[in-house]
Amino acid sequence: MPPVTTNWPEAQAFLNEARQLDAADPLSKFRERFHIPAHEGRDSLYFTGNSLGLQPKGAQDIIQGELDDWRKYGVEGHFQSRRPWVNYHAFATEDLAAIVGAKPQEVVAMNALTVNLHLLLISFFRPEGKRTRLMIEKGAFPSDRYAALSQLRLHGLDPKENLIEIAPRAGEHHLRQSDIEARIAEEGDRLACVMLCGVQYYTGQWMPMAAITTAAHAAGATCGFDLAHAVGNVPMELHDWNVDFACWCGYKYLNGGPGCTAGAFVHERHAHRPDLPRLEGWWGHAESRRFLMEPDFDLMPGAEGWQTSNAPVMNMAALLASLSEFKEAGMDTLRTKSLALTDFLEKGIHAVAASTGAHLEILTPTDMASRGCQLSVVAHGKGKSLFDHLTENGVIVDWREPAVIRMAPVPLYNRFSDVAEFLVILENGLRESK
Ligand SMILES: *Cc1c(COP(=O)(O)O)cnc(C)c1O
Repeated sequence: MPPVTTNWPEAQAFLNEARQLDAADPLSKFRERFHIPAHEGRDSLYFTGNSLGLQPKGAQDIIQGELDDWRKYGVEGHFQSRRPWVNYHAFATEDLAAIVGAKPQEVVAMNALTVNLHLLLISFFRPEGKRTRLMIEKGAFPSDRYAALSQLRLHGLDPKENLIEIAPRAGEHHLRQSDIEARIAEEGDRLACVMLCGVQYYTGQWMPMAAITTAAHAAGATCGFDLAHAVGNVPMELHDWNVDFACWCGYKYLNGGPGCTAGAFVHERHAHRPDLPRLEGWWGHAESRRFLMEPDFDLMPGAEGWQTSNAPVMNMAALLASLSEFKEAGMDTLRTKSLALTDFLEKGIHAVAASTGAHLEILTPTDMASRGCQLSVVAHGKGKSLFDHLTENGVIVDWREPAVIRMAPVPLYNRFSDVAEFLVILENGLRESK
């Protein structure tokens, strides 16, 4: 049954195709392992897994288990609980490493995203002599820009001269690989660090991460990525690409819950480098002697050497529930479905535009190697009433003035039918507002 009464001649074809695709979907069983928010008694059409992933049903048991162990053991739970808290971060390591294409020792779950960005920039943005510049993308997520600006000031550097913001060409929405490479080469020995996003939060562009890393290294700079919108969304090979550092949050595609513990990657090359300055804390101290309370810091190898504090257990518990779903599904299978799901959405948006005469501009690259699951669509000339129409009909998408809809069909829990129903509602809203 279509969600709204529709006069769109193609509606039935899209709904039928979606039903067939769902029936053939090897990942369809995962949807029922997540809580889908309801709208008027039926599942809402949830496309904001890029902002806050849905709750894995396994989260409740894991969190309750930690509460039970705390009640039962008190402080002894650090060693006696079913997942000893003393090493809690390690329960996430292998699955996170598989998701980002890293070796386990290159990955650690800790802190929050922007905090990790700062900790890593302290180590990898080391301005020296004339090599003082930090490159980010223009239109970077505000937190990343604030982090970059404050890191420059921390070194006494004027952001006006030392923050390089690389922008798409006039009239374009995406950074071209050749332009990024040329700009990095042009900056040459003035460039200390390149710190870009993996997937751009606004346009959905997946950056050519391997090429950017190679270009940065050729210029003698370090290279890192903010993977907030890439982790759990696109398959990556951080180790093989030679990326120096990366960080991500746990609550978007990783479904770890609001404010969930974030993650960090540091390449093996840097794993045993006590010479790299860092902000130190006792959880980065040699694990076997951590409780000897020694006065001098003895660095742990690997990404774990960037830890400062003990793990926030409650905050990481839900993440473990989600990671086990990722492990079972596998990033390759997720990516295969994701490509099909987003293609289906893109095809539908073009059909809706043709049917209604609306000018729907997709900001996200068409090329599948340059995008993850998200599409960002501008509904030119349409206003808040379109968004209200979507909301009233149970569609949850991100809306930005003026009429930019960002939506992420997530392969773990979204169905092709969700997309088809969204298209019918969108078509209906555009037809009515004509
Ligand atoms: C979501 C997001 C953040 C959020 O930062 P927190 O430290 O988790 O609050 C930062 N950067 C980017 C690119 C994001 O997409």
